[in-house]
Amino acid sequence: MEIDRIKFDEKGLVPAIVQDIYTGKILMLAYMNKESLEKTLETNTTWFYSRSRQKLWNKGETSGHVQKVKRLAFDCDRDSLLVEVEQVGPACHTGQMSCFHNEILIDNQFESDDKNITEDLYEFLKERKANPVEGSYTSYLFSEGLDKILKKVGEETTEVIIGAKNNDRNELISELADLAYHSIVLMIEQNISIDDVRKELSKRMNKRRQTGKDRRELNM
Ligand code: AMP
Ligand code: ZN
Ligand code: ZN
Ligand code: ZN
Repeated sequence: MEIDRIKFDEKGLVPAIVQDIYTGKILMLAYMNKESLEKTLETNTTWFYSRSRQKLWNKGETSGHVQKVKRLAFDCDRDSLLVEVEQVGPACHTGQMSCFHNEILIDNQFESDDKNITEDLYEFLKERKANPVEGSYTSYLFSEGLDKILKKVGEETTEVIIGAKNNDRNELISELADLAYHSIVLMIEQNISIDDVRKELSKRMNKRRQTGKDRRELNM
């Protein structure tokens, strides 16, 4: 058996790094003993040994934030595990996606990378319009023009609705991303900046704060 090759420490434990198989994000680190590893392999969900509670623990048993195991490997010297999972909900019991959210150091090049994803994508796609690239879908959309872009926005809107109706979270996320992408393409085509939309949104927020009126009255 492959698992007999794993080196457990003197307490019978091996550290297991849990990684989101879709995003590559490291989610948490916990310890497994032989029994929890076997249960993990049996159930395809993660089982650990809790050193504080001194018992086996099926991640998500109380929170529902389970981890569906998609790949499990040990490292070169057989003393640690990598568990690649599909994570349901946040991995950390604090509600954060990853347990590793206490930053000690971050190079400013990587700061708020995610927060700027909309702007970054906008600039990237604008470049595709200015300098068309052979085989690029974005360049193709711009060359076809407004009607083609509007048709796609309509299609993706329909797919968002279907995704939501199907109760399929992953499908819905994927379709929302498709819609966001095509909306950005439309904005570029129509010379509307991210800031134009941001200002409009923030105007409505301020209006709501000042008047205390409910969202419906303000069309929000
Ligand atoms: P859960 O397994 O998500 O139902 O959480 C049950 C308990 O396990 C929590 O109350 C925590 O004590 C512990 N726990 C859950 N997630 C983590 C984690 N990522 N790291 C350490 N302990 C955790
Ligand atoms: Zn190692
Ligand atoms: Zn945590
Ligand atoms: Zn789509």
